[in-house]
Amino acid sequence: MHEAKKQALKNVEHVAEGVAADTLPEGKLFEIAQSIGDKRLEELNVEDTTCGYCAVGCRFDLYSDGEEILAARPTDEEDAPVNGISTCVKGKFGYDFVNSDDRLTSPLVRDERGEFREATWDEAIGRVAERFGEIKDQHGGESLSLIASSKATNEDNYLMGKFARQVLGTNSVDNCNRLCHSSTVAGLAQTYGYGAASISTEDLELADCILLTGSNTTEAHPVLATRIKQNVRDGGDLLVFDPREIQIAEYATQYSQVNPGYDAVWINGLTRYIIENDLYDEQFVEERTTGFEDVKEAVQEFTPERVEEVTGVPHEEIVSAAETLADADRCVFGWTLGLTEHSHGTENVIAMANLAAITGNLGKPGAGVSPFRGQNNVQGGGGDMGPLPDNFPGYQDIADDEIRAKFEDAWDCDISEEYGYYTTQMFLAADDDDIRGMYIIGENAALSEPGVNHAEDVLEDLDFLVVQDLFVNETAQYADVVLPACSFVEKTGTFTNTDRTVQMVKQVMEPKGDSRPDWKILQDLANRMGRDWNYDDTAEIMQEVNSLTPLYGGVSHERVDEEGGVQWPCWDESHPGTERLYTEEFNTENGKANLQGIGYSEPAETPDDEYPFTLTTGRVLYQYHTGTMTHREEGIMQYTPSDFIEIHPETADALGVESGDLVTVESRRGEVVVPAQVTDRVGPENVFIPIHFAESAVNQLTDEEHLDPAAATPEFKVSAVRLTPADAEPTMTTDGETTTGDD
Ligand code: SF4
Repeated sequence: MHEAKKQALKNVEHVAEGVAADTLPEGKLFEIAQSIGDKRLEELNVEDTTCGYCAVGCRFDLYSDGEEILAARPTDEEDAPVNGISTCVKGKFGYDFVNSDDRLTSPLVRDERGEFREATWDEAIGRVAERFGEIKDQHGGESLSLIASSKATNEDNYLMGKFARQVLGTNSVDNCNRLCHSSTVAGLAQTYGYGAASISTEDLELADCILLTGSNTTEAHPVLATRIKQNVRDGGDLLVFDPREIQIAEYATQYSQVNPGYDAVWINGLTRYIIENDLYDEQFVEERTTGFEDVKEAVQEFTPERVEEVTGVPHEEIVSAAETLADADRCVFGWTLGLTEHSHGTENVIAMANLAAITGNLGKPGAGVSPFRGQNNVQGGGGDMGPLPDNFPGYQDIADDEIRAKFEDAWDCDISEEYGYYTTQMFLAADDDDIRGMYIIGENAALSEPGVNHAEDVLEDLDFLVVQDLFVNETAQYADVVLPACSFVEKTGTFTNTDRTVQMVKQVMEPKGDSRPDWKILQDLANRMGRDWNYDDTAEIMQEVNSLTPLYGGVSHERVDEEGGVQWPCWDESHPGTERLYTEEFNTENGKANLQGIGYSEPAETPDDEYPFTLTTGRVLYQYHTGTMTHREEGIMQYTPSDFIEIHPETADALGVESGDLVTVESRRGEVVVPAQVTDRVGPENVFIPIHFAESAVNQLTDEEHLDPAAATPEFKVSAVRLTPADAEPTMTTDGETTTGDD
């Protein structure tokens, strides 16, 4: 690593939480530039672009000498509405993966011995077209499935959905949203109409109160955490409900530790207290909602005492949180996967939607719901663009005859009205040979799926597997053909961030080796399989999106570039975009928020004598998902180089382990061995393991079978496990600055 960059990384704590702005002043940039070849700043390529890590959607200028990314530095503040001049450690420094030695630079195919060998694009595309064609002929298109990529652009993802339906002939197309926020989408769509954040990011600073749950914001969405902390510094209230006493809890007016898996209980408890004490917004409820009486009846059982009994939250804390909430004129309800990754995640989200509505906190500045999305483009690529088994782009239902006819006409193909398999269901359907071939793009399913031992068996047994990625990751090791794709710094398109803002992504480097942008690979493959795709660039693909997707009707590359970003819904060229949803009416047939009385469901697996602890999983600041990108960043790897398990001191005492000792963690599905980190951040009955490390893949422990009935989201956040000290000698300690997250 270059000396200047090393030096900059030493300052990493300052930017770690997104607190500080630019730790690379211009002088430092010159130093970096000079240290790698005596180039002056103005001689480098520079493009304003959007971060490729998380869905906060920070914008900044990327500098490149054409061969590697040299620096990321703030763009003009007005061009970066979400982050201003802030970025976090990943957006600032996480680019070594682009030039990593093991980056895929040519297609790979399996030879007769089962080994990978390099191939030309012509051969690789030919082999994929031939095998997909054979399976389609023998077993029907519905025996094929495609997992799309929330890391890729909107334009890439639009074509992934089109490719699945038009070329493969299947509705089994889905993506990683199934593993995270699909229960948010289902819950919010049912009640309000749109499965997305109703607020703009600036509302986090305008709110009088923020209720945060299941969100380790400082680590998973650092720049949003900066906004929240600023709100607190300005006198706002912050209520944090979480099983782990995460760092953002230090800033909270009130932190309440919740037993994992019982969120609907405490949320209903708040709703009940507010209704019973006439603290709700009567006018809003009367004029803008239906179902209030249903909710009132359903929450009756959730007295503060009952909530305490089930969730462990003291009844006084339910009362004080409810009063703080009701007292606020403007409240934002923020959450991530601690609320959604459950076998009843949709139920949790509906309970939260009820609470926001009865307190009148929708459709006005500083108020609304904000599910913080995870991957950089999971909102746009994973949802809006419709690589989904039940929706076309813009959440248009495939079962609707008129809508289906529109797409059949535009895409010149027949499309079944039957929904396809969700990602989690694809792996179960493969057991019965209902899925025989998969095309996995930019998704490391062999680590990210629940119950990965099962997922790996499925990948191994498929008739044909194609993986399109930057690396031969854990999933690609099972592939028949691997196609090398470009990273986000090597292509142009758009991402849509967590507050629905569509932003430009711009090419700042040439593609590495023979790698290609996803949309070009799809175009070549579609044409080899008999279609006639002729897109010249991604702007042209976005024009097709405009014509078929009312939500994106006025979104063009030209406009997004000129305005810095456009928030959907944006119905046409003259529409200004939508800063906040539901200012006048909800996106439902009657224009009202349709509230639903919700009780609560137990987690699918609760602790017992055999497996007495509850495991929850999540992220850490210095890593990202399955580590495909961050594990290749030497500086970042210094901070959280390997896995660990958080164990409460009482539990550690009982087990006879100290920080650094290895612990065997077993569930009904598998076991991992990880070093202990003894901390009272978790409760005595709970443990936590991050999701980022293949060596001790925590999803060996999670459950692939019990899915949310509405959204098919797995229950990553609750698994029953048992712990025993491992015989092996410890290989590392986790003392010190290691920080953890549960997204
Ligand atoms: Fe990138 Fe998210 Fe960090 Fe912003 S907060 S720089 S979008 S990883």
